[in-house]
Amino acid sequence: MTFKRHFISTTILSVALFPLIKYRILWVLISGIFIDIDHYLWYVIRYNDWNIKHAVKHFESDGNADDPSIFIFHTMEFIVIIFILSLFYDAFFYILIGAVFHIIPDILLAKDKPSVPIRSSLIYFFYKGLHKKSEFLANWKSND
Ligand SMILES: [Zn+2]
Repeated sequence: MTFKRHFISTTILSVALFPLIKYRILWVLISGIFIDIDHYLWYVIRYNDWNIKHAVKHFESDGNADDPSIFIFHTMEFIVIIFILSLFYDAFFYILIGAVFHIIPDILLAKDKPSVPIRSSLIYFFYKGLHKKSEFLANWKSND
């Protein structure tokens, strides 16, 4: 989902939740909108290019389709860590709401892509990458 759609949907959620959680809505907003920063981080690591305009252009052109990629804040492991932290710190509960609200539409809109299960788990991503590297890369390129 695009940044603009995440911004609009998360803002609507925040307005709806504001009467219940007041200023803590900022955590929902920040996590719901900005967890896509992981796409930029991946781009920087992959291409050694810090230019954010190049990164945006890369993803707008679906430039990640032929590269194995993992977006760390969109993984189950990240959600589990945030959930565990939410048991101890209130802020993480609101970060969890924003993150889940962000990730669910991302997954639903990309559910037909075979890369989604791989991208949804850091452990699975590295398992597939390390143990079946050539097959993994070939499948990724031909199916995504
Ligand atoms: Zn996203």
